[in-house]
Amino acid sequence: MNKRGGKFGYDPQDHLISILPSVIAGMVSLLITIIATTVLYPPANDLQRYGLIAYGIAGSLYLGFYYRNYTLSPNKTTYAWINAVIAGVSLGLLPYLIARELDYLLYTLMFMAALATSVISSRGPAYFLILIFSTIHSLHFLDETMPPNGWITHAGLLIASIITVETIQQLKTISKKQMNRLEIVNEISKQIVSTLDTKQLLTLLDAELQNVLEADTYYIGIQNDGQLHMELFYDDGEYFNGVDFTLEGSLSNWVFQNQQPLFLADLRTPIQLEGVDFTLAGKPKASLSWMGVPMKGFHVNGIMVIASYRPNAFDRTDLELLSNIAQRAALALDNTYHHALVQEQARLDSLTRVYNHGYFIQKLRDQAQVSSLKKQPLSLIMLDIDYFKQYNDSYGHAVGDEILVNLCDTIRQYVKKTDAVGRWGGEEFAISLPNSDGRRAAQVAERIRETLASIKLSNHEHSEIPAPTVSMGIAVFPNETSDITKLIDIADKRLYIAKERGRDQIEPPL
Ligand code: GH3
Ligand code: MG
Ligand code: MG
Repeated sequence: MNKRGGKFGYDPQDHLISILPSVIAGMVSLLITIIATTVLYPPANDLQRYGLIAYGIAGSLYLGFYYRNYTLSPNKTTYAWINAVIAGVSLGLLPYLIARELDYLLYTLMFMAALATSVISSRGPAYFLILIFSTIHSLHFLDETMPPNGWITHAGLLIASIITVETIQQLKTISKKQMNRLEIVNEISKQIVSTLDTKQLLTLLDAELQNVLEADTYYIGIQNDGQLHMELFYDDGEYFNGVDFTLEGSLSNWVFQNQQPLFLADLRTPIQLEGVDFTLAGKPKASLSWMGVPMKGFHVNGIMVIASYRPNAFDRTDLELLSNIAQRAALALDNTYHHALVQEQARLDSLTRVYNHGYFIQKLRDQAQVSSLKKQPLSLIMLDIDYFKQYNDSYGHAVGDEILVNLCDTIRQYVKKTDAVGRWGGEEFAISLPNSDGRRAAQVAERIRETLASIKLSNHEHSEIPAPTVSMGIAVFPNETSDITKLIDIADKRLYIAKERGRDQIEPPL
């Protein structure tokens, strides 16, 4: 977490700390240069001596001023360029005041200045400083005789400065990238914990994986009866969400069985993992780097995997990051699954586990809307158990309950996944059948009626109890009406016609 609240990045305090060594070293080098010159190589005249002392004092003051003010300045870029000119020129002119023997110390000073500039600013000012310094410095030596080894040493020190500047810039790029990754992870995890919708959560996780890890392939798979159900599956620019894979022999299976992260840097080298049957041959585009981590929660038994077509695409930091994301994803997914479960429970009738009255009507309206769009019929069956009151009175409420459960199990046998079953109230049920006309609905109703008639129950004394009969009424949307309330009314009326005609029968649509 960033305690300063804003974006991740360096703040003035960080700058102070990072340039402090260079500033101190600069002051010390300046001091050594001046003391060494006055003691070891006394200047030829007073002008040079006083000039040198003034230079030392001004240089130290400038360093102190720079150290304090740069870090507080809102316009650091301008400051860095101005400093490059001041430092470059003043250091370049120093050879006019000091002995040739101390020339190398100058390079130390230039080195410090370039290093500090590179740390707090960008390449530009750092190289500009080096350029100004070495140009002035070289001009000074052009009119004097400089031995070849002198020029070589100067060139070597120049190259060392350039390498230092570059190294610092590279390190800054890497740390910036890491900070950026952490910032995304931080931002998304804030949203993740407050999400209760599985789809929305997966969208967030997708964005996280996409932005944080450079993977050609990634997936979140949930274990389901020996199959891996892909809640999210991205491969080579395409999504394949919802597909299932066989787990046996796969790398994912190893992660499930061992409940441990698996890091495979280069899949071209043969892998020896128990229970894994992995061969690269024959695949048109195969992953050569692979990382998988388990996602374990109360409702979740899953895995998060990223892979790349390049070998050695990931390192241990990536694995750590993936583990981190997976851990929080498992918790969040657990939350959304739990929420969905609770919501589903709230929609069901507690005895029969079919939809309750309220949810059934909502579902029926949704189905009607889809049917309208698709121009398909939607049939509604209303079902009521005959003389159930008497049945209860004869065999007891418990047996009555058992019949209700049995009836719903029977209905489930004959309806599709897309159909809906609801308890209308008491011993009355409703069944909606999308894309079914009246004829098909009558067939379904007939099968339910026949099967129910064959159900056998027994009471406490183990004597056989016959199942009660049922009566049903059917109405069809939109053929008969496009109003849902009216549709229910028509089916209900037909149900009572069936009752009046003697029960144990179906009243089909006209
Ligand atoms: P009809 O053929 O006219 O439908 O006669 P019926 O006796 O089934 O109709 P009625 O509406 O008079 O009685 C419904 C009965 O259903 C009343 C109640 O005892 C029973 N019942 C309602 N809900 C439950 C339940 O959850 N469990 C049990 N065991 N019985 C219930
Ligand atoms: Mg009844
Ligand atoms: Mg009734």
